[in-house]
Amino acid sequence: MSDETNPFKNAQKQLDTAAEVMGLDRNAHAILREPEREIHVHIPVRMDSGQTKVLEGFRVQYNDARGPFKGGIRFHPKENIDTVRALAAWMTWKCSLANIPFGGGKGGIVFDPKSVSEREMEAISRGYIRAIGKFIGPEVDIPAPDVYTTPQIMAWMADEYQKLVGHNAPGVVTGKPLEVGGSEGRFDSTALGGMYVLREAAKYKKIDLKKARIAIQGFGNAGRYALELSKSMFGSKVVAISDSSGGVYDPNGLDIEKLERYKDSGKELKNYAVGEKVGNEKLLELDVDVLIPAAIENQITKDNAGKIKAKILLELANGPVTPEADPILFENGVFDLPDFLVNSGGVIGSYFEWVQNLYNYYWTREEVYGKLDKIISKSFKDTIDTQNAYKAKGKSIDPRTAAYIIAIDRVSKAMKLRGWY
Ligand code: NAD
Repeated sequence: MSDETNPFKNAQKQLDTAAEVMGLDRNAHAILREPEREIHVHIPVRMDSGQTKVLEGFRVQYNDARGPFKGGIRFHPKENIDTVRALAAWMTWKCSLANIPFGGGKGGIVFDPKSVSEREMEAISRGYIRAIGKFIGPEVDIPAPDVYTTPQIMAWMADEYQKLVGHNAPGVVTGKPLEVGGSEGRFDSTALGGMYVLREAAKYKKIDLKKARIAIQGFGNAGRYALELSKSMFGSKVVAISDSSGGVYDPNGLDIEKLERYKDSGKELKNYAVGEKVGNEKLLELDVDVLIPAAIENQITKDNAGKIKAKILLELANGPVTPEADPILFENGVFDLPDFLVNSGGVIGSYFEWVQNLYNYYWTREEVYGKLDKIISKSFKDTIDTQNAYKAKGKSIDPRTAAYIIAIDRVSKAMKLRGWY
């Protein structure tokens, strides 16, 4: 992994940049550059063949000055500690920017989720919770879904934890199905939050979303809802979308229902017969108004940042833009809204689920959406206000740095008050 694509090095660089601009206390800076705790486990799993496989897993607990650690769990064959560390750091900033009472954490297991049976998947999920069970809990660390982890997996994980502790504690994990303590509105909350940010950004930049052309990279939970909501909320035209196999492009706008039916049949987009084929790299460079990376990290680097034509870059994925790409985008006038603002709807939805679990009192979908809109629109406003406040002082900073300054300031103040430095 080169330095530009090492996500944790990137997370540290982003912190350093903001720390320098805001004049962060060097003791606070030193604490915030490293995770508080890293748990490294090896999980024995009895496979269907009768053989026992030992899978490597991580849980990184980055900072809990403002509340319990909070963050998703990924299942991925290329999962590694640096990615998990970076994601845990970003969760810290995300929860702080949203001003919800959580710190940041993240977890992962190294294996290919497409290669296991349902029974094996359950055994892996439960094994992971047995391995990290002593270090999590509704008041300690609260996992959630992320890449290739589903509500069913969260239900198994919550169940395993509740068996370990011997009482009901659904608030240990969020992203659960409704029947076992999930929240209304949780599953589209990431993309919906991103759309609220897009609405505010378009208003700020005076872009008419009804006439906007949108390209989306990724067709998972985040990308798919972004596709649906772009049309249903704003009437925008989604002209391109991709999955890991490649993408499709139609300058007249894609037929969303047809696309969804096609994907639901389990097929890959590279074989979709409508529109032009477009590779994942070319998709990023299309002449569109809004570009939504909603797949994986390191998609926009110093090599292609100069080719991005979108007016608004809405980072729905975590870490899609490298620090080397940031100044290029900023100079070219791309309004790049950072991941930990744009996709914070997921953790805000998780926060609502956790609160409802603790209270055993459940809200309607409309209540959840209304509360989400309020919190995330405020985060957008705080970010722009901070950017403009620095501009007034003669310092020109991008929205990512502005968002970092807000988040870091809140965590540092909490650490100071708690006497950590
Ligand atoms: P997912 O597993 O549901 O979907 C991932 C999608 O990305 C799939 O369509 C896959 O085909 C596609 N993909 C994989 N590699 C690709 C590549 N090289 N190029 C293009 N597409 C590729 O995952 P998700 O939950 O939608 O998460 C996507 C991103 O959003 C991740 O960065 C994740 O961390 C972030 N995110 C998700 C949530 C959430 O609630 N789901 C919350 C916050 C952040």
